[in-house]
Amino acid sequence: MKFEDVIAMIREYPDFPKKGILFRDVLPIFRDPKAVEVLIDHLSEKLSEINAKNGGSKIDVVVGAEARGFILGALLAQRIGAAFVPVRKSGKLPGKVSSVVYEKEYGPDTMEVQYGSIQANQNVVAIDDLLATGGTAGAVERLVMEQGAKIIANLFIVELVDLEGAKKLTAQVYSAYKC
Ligand code: 5GP
Repeated sequence: MKFEDVIAMIREYPDFPKKGILFRDVLPIFRDPKAVEVLIDHLSEKLSEINAKNGGSKIDVVVGAEARGFILGALLAQRIGAAFVPVRKSGKLPGKVSSVVYEKEYGPDTMEVQYGSIQANQNVVAIDDLLATGGTAGAVERLVMEQGAKIIANLFIVELVDLEGAKKLTAQVYSAYKC
C-alpha cells in the first residue's frame, strides 16, 4: 500500500457537525492495520527529518489532544520509543493538572495535562488528525511550554491551509495532506 492510498481513505462529510462544514473523517484509516503502518512510517520519517534539522535531540514525549490525537499519539510514541501523554478537556484527568484556556468558536475552553507527566527540558512532539484554525494545537503548544518543555514539531494528517492555522504555531508544522 502506498501513502497516497492511505490519504484516499479519508472521507468527506458535507454539513457535519453543522451546515457549511466539510468534515474530513480519518477514522477509516484505523480500520486497516496496513494503512496505519504506512501512515505511522510516513509521519515518523518526517519527524526524523525535522528533528535532524533541529540538532537531532531525543524525542521524550508525544502529546495527543482528545480525541483522535490519542490514537495517533499512542501509535507514534510506541514507534519512536517515547512516552505518550494525553491532553484532555477539563475535568477528565485525575490528580493535579496544568491547564490552559483557549478560544473556541463559541467562547473559551480549557485543556489539561496531568501535572508532572511532562518534565522541564523534555523534547515533545504534538500530533492530531487535523489542523484547522490552530486553536487546539496552539493550546497544546502552550501547555507543553508551560511545563518548561520544548516543542519540536506539530504533526497532522490533514491541514486546511486556507484557515492559516500553522501561522499560530511556534514549532514546525508537518501535514501529510494539505487541502
Ligand atoms: P482547530 O482548533 O485547528 O480549529 O481545529 C482542529 C481540531 O478540531 C482538531 O482537534 C480536530 O480533531 C478537530 N476538527 C476540526 N475540523 C475537523 C474535520 O474536518 N475533521 C476532523 N477529523 N477533525 C476536525
